[in-house]
Amino acid sequence: MTIYQNLIAGEWVGSDATKNINPSDTNEVVGLYADGTAEDTRNAIAAAKAAFPAWSRSGIWERHVILKKAGDEIMARKDELGALLAREEGKTLPEAIGETIRASQIFEFFAGEALRLAGEVIPSVRPNIGVEITRDPLGVIGIITPWNFPIAIPAWKIAPALCYGNTIVFKPAELVPGCSWAIVDILHRAGLPKGVLNLVMGKGSLVGQAMLDSPDVTGITFTGSTGTGRRVASASIEHNRKFQLEMGGKNPMVVLDDADLAVAVEAAANSGFFSTGQRCTASSRLIVTEGIHDKFVAALTEKLKTLVVDNAMKTGTHIGPVVDEKQLKTDTDYIEIGRKEGAKLAFGGELITRETPGFYLQPTLFTEATNQMRISREEIFGPVVSLIRVKDYEEALATANDTPFGLSAGIATTSLKHATHFKRNSEAGMVMVNLPTAGVDFHVPFGGRKGSSYGPREQGKYAAEFYTSVKTAYTLA
Ligand code: NDP
Repeated sequence: MTIYQNLIAGEWVGSDATKNINPSDTNEVVGLYADGTAEDTRNAIAAAKAAFPAWSRSGIWERHVILKKAGDEIMARKDELGALLAREEGKTLPEAIGETIRASQIFEFFAGEALRLAGEVIPSVRPNIGVEITRDPLGVIGIITPWNFPIAIPAWKIAPALCYGNTIVFKPAELVPGCSWAIVDILHRAGLPKGVLNLVMGKGSLVGQAMLDSPDVTGITFTGSTGTGRRVASASIEHNRKFQLEMGGKNPMVVLDDADLAVAVEAAANSGFFSTGQRCTASSRLIVTEGIHDKFVAALTEKLKTLVVDNAMKTGTHIGPVVDEKQLKTDTDYIEIGRKEGAKLAFGGELITRETPGFYLQPTLFTEATNQMRISREEIFGPVVSLIRVKDYEEALATANDTPFGLSAGIATTSLKHATHFKRNSEAGMVMVNLPTAGVDFHVPFGGRKGSSYGPREQGKYAAEFYTSVKTAYTLA
């Protein structure tokens, strides 16, 4: 079997490899992907550092052309790359193709942004002096990504890093190297100069840690768990390095008495359970007022009965498998915790056997949960949702905000007054009205507050805040 190698200084290298296993069919090896070392990482950092001066001064047309070519190729290959994504991560084929299209759109967006780089010219408060404000690239950016969006998250970090003139060392999650390898291959063939984009696949404890330990990495953009995020933060402060963290969530969706029941059920089912609940923006807490509670539970339970859990590649599957055995154990441990804490298991909770051996779990709904239970406070990252009954809107808002996280929050209501109040008073970075808490646009800022995020927002033109450093220059006329 071919080994998909690491790209360091423009050369494909590496002979040791790890198997990429399909969670829908654990007999299937998706591919063999290089197992990078700390030394590979140091070589990649050195290559990125050497490539930086030339790339930081490259023309914006060159950057535009490369980013555009990448976006076009990803779109042209959306079915093939979507299938690779579904096979390595386990989200359903339509979800995976959708994510691939989004990755293409992100490259197209930043291809456009490359042509719109601008600064400001401002008069000085002193006579005969001009002031210019410009944005310089940061330098070598370390990119560390999680397994749950194998193509979109790498795209939304790599595209702006290149657009603003940075060079890159990229380490994808060990579980899903396939899509990352494909993006890097596409950009390499699109004409990126040697060393501008380096790929080091391998373990977080080796490759990721070597990036954290290097004084030559001038910025790190990280998406992943809170625990690893804290390591990125403390190592980065030690090196006086800029960093950006996107971490976990425990996103609430409030359902008020006046909600359109069908809209509320669709939003809750989608954001709680689609992509197997493995989205940082998933609604894992449903906060429901008394008047609609019983009707909503009955309708959501009926909906859950219709959702098909099966092989991600099979037509008709709504929910694919959990990503791996370790995450499956986390999910089932939390289901046991929920039972012991006294929440009522209203639906699911059981492992499922399918034609192909995989990590299949029923969508699981706990009712009669409280907001103090562990299943309502800690991120599970699986298809497990707690439903909390509250008296009225005021209690719903207070419960929604009573969490260490603050990524996304939703409300289902037909009241303009409550929707407006919720948008103003939610403590989350993203607020959805009558929409799932997951599912965002690619051209506007993405990010959260409190324990969910740290540093500037990602995506859209706000991405410049992280990938550049502002310079103020004064000139005597
Ligand atoms: P992890 O924190 O385990 O891993 C994230 C990345 O960090 C992986 O590439 C991992 O490598 C790497 N890593 C692990 N150890 C180190 C280390 N010591 N130094 C540097 N890098 C390291 O998270 P998961 O991959 O398990 O992702 C799931 C988590 O991500 C969830 O908590 C979820 O909420 C969060 N997430 C947040 C999002 C957001 O935007 N807020 C979006 C998506 C996910 P390896 O996998 O090879 O060990």
